[in-house]
Amino acid sequence: MRFDIMTLFPGLVDTVLGESVIGRAQKSGAITVRSHNIRDYSKDKHHRVDDTPYGGGKGMLMMAPPIYDCYQAILEMAGEMPRRRVVYLSPRGKVLDQAKARELAELDHLILLCGHYEGVDTRIIEEIVDEEISIGDYVLTGGEIPACILVDAVARLCDGVLAAPECYENESHSAGLLEYPQYTRPVEFRGRTVPEVLLSGHHANIDKWRLEQAKEITARLRPDLLS
Ligand code: SAM
Repeated sequence: MRFDIMTLFPGLVDTVLGESVIGRAQKSGAITVRSHNIRDYSKDKHHRVDDTPYGGGKGMLMMAPPIYDCYQAILEMAGEMPRRRVVYLSPRGKVLDQAKARELAELDHLILLCGHYEGVDTRIIEEIVDEEISIGDYVLTGGEIPACILVDAVARLCDGVLAAPECYENESHSAGLLEYPQYTRPVEFRGRTVPEVLLSGHHANIDKWRLEQAKEITARLRPDLLS
């Protein structure tokens, strides 16, 4: 899967997505992530990309033309891709969840637009954006961190990024439940011991215990998920 990120701060997303699992997935070729500096597409001699909003109000708004030219350049670079979507990271969007991450992981190409300042001229949303996605009901200074979160959540569901699908199939939110408690060595830590059943080697009992625990934890921490 290919991800293209339109941003005024490419260094920010490159740093975050160049590390750890997602960084390795890029190196192995399981996914491709490219950041694009919108400022490179400004035709202004000072490379301006923002201006004051019509009608007044505080703050600056990102102008549509440089974003549009950046988008066109990405389409040319990436070529024909059958399943493509353009997402604007925005606090107005539907809040990201695991179901949305799964849906997006079926695509071939995800183009992400990161806003900054007061956001972007509405006409660029109308012109190129398929969907607005939020990472939560709060406002951040820019779309770069939300874009990194979205890429991480989607990329780890793509083939070849994690060692095997089992790595995410039993996790929190994959089947509507939160994950059961996990333990590793040592068997005893400050008087707290690993539950007997996990040391028993009896896989049916272990599965049963894990399911009961997942239900109990979900009911306690996130009862809204059960309803
Ligand atoms: N004026 C905008 C509003 O009230 O909806 C907020 C602009 S915000 C300061 C700047 C940029 O940060 C937005 O254009 C968006 O790309 C990003 N952003 C901020 N909060 C976000 C969130 N919760 N989810 C996704 N993106 C967000």
